[in-house]
Amino acid sequence: MSAKNEKLTGKVAVVTGASKGIGAGIAKDLAKAGASVVVNYASSREGADKVVEEILAAGGAAKAVQADVSKAADIERLFAEAVAAFGQVDILVNNAGIYEWAALEEITEESFHRQFGLNVLGLLLTTREGVKHFPESGGSVINISSIAGSTALPGCSVYGATKASVDLITKVLAKELGPRGIRVNEIAPGMVETEGAAEFVKSDFGAQVVAQTPLGRIGTPADIAAAAVFLASEDASWMSGEAIYLSGGYR
Ligand code: NAP
Repeated sequence: MSAKNEKLTGKVAVVTGASKGIGAGIAKDLAKAGASVVVNYASSREGADKVVEEILAAGGAAKAVQADVSKAADIERLFAEAVAAFGQVDILVNNAGIYEWAALEEITEESFHRQFGLNVLGLLLTTREGVKHFPESGGSVINISSIAGSTALPGCSVYGATKASVDLITKVLAKELGPRGIRVNEIAPGMVETEGAAEFVKSDFGAQVVAQTPLGRIGTPADIAAAAVFLASEDASWMSGEAIYLSGGYR
């Protein structure tokens, strides 16, 4: 966690897919900045509870809520529980996502629908429901995209297409929601050391990425979390429809 700064005191954040990886890092740093945080997870109750415990131990406020954010009914319950716990929602981080890389001949319909169902449809449904609970003064939506949405990586046509969709959705929703004072931005990370990416990090491809990264290393969840705190805060109050690329210079 980065240094305490309290820029988000009084705010409530919902972070999807926060039981591990990038989402867990973002949840902890938003809490450190003063926000009350809903730590969403799909199946890793233990992971989510651990994130909540860490936040509470550091003097913050947090609650774990199970919901599959590719399903509208679960999403509705997620925000109902968030509002019951903390009264409103000011910050939504659409982080939950899956990546199933496959060369053309290995693409399956199931994998296509799984990735688009969560990374794209889930993000839209979550945002549609989430902004209903934002105050009249507005709020901040932060989408987690990927450099895979704008870099042609072999094996990445489906996953990359989900993130290219997120890139466009971020810009479209910034226009639709701007008049309500809601800012919509995204972070597009390069390779980040997480449970989900562990195989990539260890692979030859992972070594190649590091070799081609000007800053000479892959990212950590804390690298991404710092940008999320910025986007959630008043420091970014004139920023909407934008992307922050965090990849150590790898593109
Ligand atoms: P991860 O380690 O695999 O963690 C994924 C998180 O998403 C977990 O908390 C998981 O919850 C949750 N999740 C999965 N399906 C869900 C669903 N249907 N509903 C709710 N939560 C769900 O992933 P990560 O590497 O941190 O990646 C997080 C985001 O960053 C993704 O959008 C990914 O595309 C993006 N990203 C990652 C990298 C990277 O190199 N790691 C790079 C660029 C972009 P459970 O544990 O309960 O299943």
